[in-house]
Amino acid sequence: MILAIDEGTTGTTCLVFDDDGTLAGRAYREFTQHFPRPGWVEHDAAEIWEAVHAVAGEALDDAGCGPGMLRAVGITNQRETVCVWDPHTGEPLHHALVWQDRRTAERCDALRAAGHEALVRTKTGLVLDPYFSGTKIEWLLEHVDGLREKAQAGRAVFGTIDSWLVFKLTGEHVTDQSNASRTLLYDIAKGEWDDDLCALLGVPKQALPEVRPSIGEFGTTTPETLHGHVVPVAGIAGDQQSALYGQACLDPGMGKNTYGTGSFVLLNSGAAPPLAPPGLLTTVAWGIGQRTVYALEAAIFVTGAGVQWLRDGLGIIERADETEALAASLDGNDGVYFVPALTGLGSPHWDPYARGTIVGLTRGSTKAHLARATLEAMAYQTVDAIRAMEVACGTPLTELKADGGATANGWLMQFQADILGVPVVVPEVAETTALGAALLAGVGAGIWSQDHIARTWRARTRYEPRMGEDERAGLLQGWSAALSRTLS
Ligand code: ADP
Repeated sequence: MILAIDEGTTGTTCLVFDDDGTLAGRAYREFTQHFPRPGWVEHDAAEIWEAVHAVAGEALDDAGCGPGMLRAVGITNQRETVCVWDPHTGEPLHHALVWQDRRTAERCDALRAAGHEALVRTKTGLVLDPYFSGTKIEWLLEHVDGLREKAQAGRAVFGTIDSWLVFKLTGEHVTDQSNASRTLLYDIAKGEWDDDLCALLGVPKQALPEVRPSIGEFGTTTPETLHGHVVPVAGIAGDQQSALYGQACLDPGMGKNTYGTGSFVLLNSGAAPPLAPPGLLTTVAWGIGQRTVYALEAAIFVTGAGVQWLRDGLGIIERADETEALAASLDGNDGVYFVPALTGLGSPHWDPYARGTIVGLTRGSTKAHLARATLEAMAYQTVDAIRAMEVACGTPLTELKADGGATANGWLMQFQADILGVPVVVPEVAETTALGAALLAGVGAGIWSQDHIARTWRARTRYEPRMGEDERAGLLQGWSAALSRTLS
C-alpha cells in the first residue's frame, strides 16, 4: 500500500491506496487558522505535524494496513507557506507564515521600486508578491529575536510544509523542485538555490533544504514517526503540481483547475520553462531523474475561501455544501456580484491592494444571492485566468479537468461549463491532489510506471455547456464591471 499525505491550507487528508491504485483507507482533520492581525495568516507547525501523524495513523487503520504492508509515502502540501525550526530539537521557532499572509506587501513594493522584479521574474518565473516564501523568510529573520544568528550557526532552518513534514518523518532537511520553485529563491532553469536572490533577501543558503527531484528518495520513516512503518518518502510535490500529476496531465498542453481554498489552473508546458505573460507564472511541475517538467500557472487566491467566509465570517451558512441549494433557489443572480479579493487579487490581475467588493444589493437581496455570487465568482475568476492562458499559448482550451473540494458542488461545475463554454470534467477520484502524491511516490518507489497513470485516469462526471451566448456575455460583462470597481 501507499500512503498519501495531503497537508492542505484548512486541513490534512491522508489516503491509503493499494497496489493497483484503489482507494483503501482515508482520514481527515481540520487544524487551527491564526489571524493575529488583519492580513496576517499563520499556522502552528507543531499542530500540523500532530494532525498529520494522527490522521496518517487513522487512514492506515482504516485501510487495514498492518506491519510490512506499506511500501512508500508521498507528500503534497499547501505551497509557499514557510516553517522555521531548530534542527536539533525539531521544535518550531515561530508559527508558520501561510501563503495567504500579506504582511510583506510593502516590502515587495519596495523591492519592485528598487528595480528587482526583472531579476526575480527571469530566474524564478514568479512575481514580487507576498504570496511567495522569500519575503516571509526575510520577515522571520528580521523579526524573530536571534533568528538570524541561529540560522547562521545551524540552529534554525527553513522549509515549506513538505520539508517540515519530511523532517519530522525522516530527520532529513530536503524539499522537492516544485516546492522550491515557489520560494522566490530558486533558479528554475538551472535547478538550484540562487546566490543573488538569497543575497537580495538576506537568506543564508545553509538554512535552506537540499532540493531533490519530486519523484525519488527523500528519506526513510522510523517506527516512531510512522506507526511502526519503515518506508521511503518517495514522492513530493506542491499541491497544485501534484493535482496536475493526479489528473494525468503528463503531456504538454494538458491542464487542470483545482477548486480548493484558492483555485489554480496549471498547464503542462513540457521540458522548457514557458515565457509567462504578466499576471501568469512559470513554475516547475515536477522533476524526475535529470528531467524537469515545467508548467504555466494561474493562481487565484480566494475561491472556496469565499465560501468559508460566508460560513465563518458572516455566519449565513453552516456548511459549505449549503451554497449549492441556495444558488439553485434563484433563477438568476439579480445583478449581485461578489469580487472576493479578500487577500488581494492573483492571476491574471495581480493586485495585492484590491479588497473584496459586493455590488448590486437591493432590499430583495438574501443570503441566497451572496451564496450564488460567491460560487459564480469562482467560475468568473477561472474564466479570466484561462483566457489569459489561451492568449499566452495560442491555443484555445477544449475541455477543463476539475478537482478539489468544491467540485462536489454540481451547480458550480455546471455554471463553470456554461460560463467557460467548454465541458468541465471531474475525475473518479475527486481528491486528485492526494492521488497525485500517491502516484508520485508509487512511481518513485518503482511500483508504477507513468503509463499506468495515464491508463487508469477516469472521468466521473462531464458537465456540458448549455448556456446561450447572450446570457453568458451579459454575466461576464456584469462581472467585469464589478471587477473594475475592486481593483486598487
Ligand atoms: P484545500 O486543499 O485548499 O484545503 P479543499 O480541496 O479541501 O481545499 O476544498 C475545500 C474548500 O472548498 C473550502 O474552501 C470549502 O469552502 C470549499 N467547498 C467544499 N465543499 C464545497 C461545496 N459543496 N460548495 C462550495 N464550496 C465548497
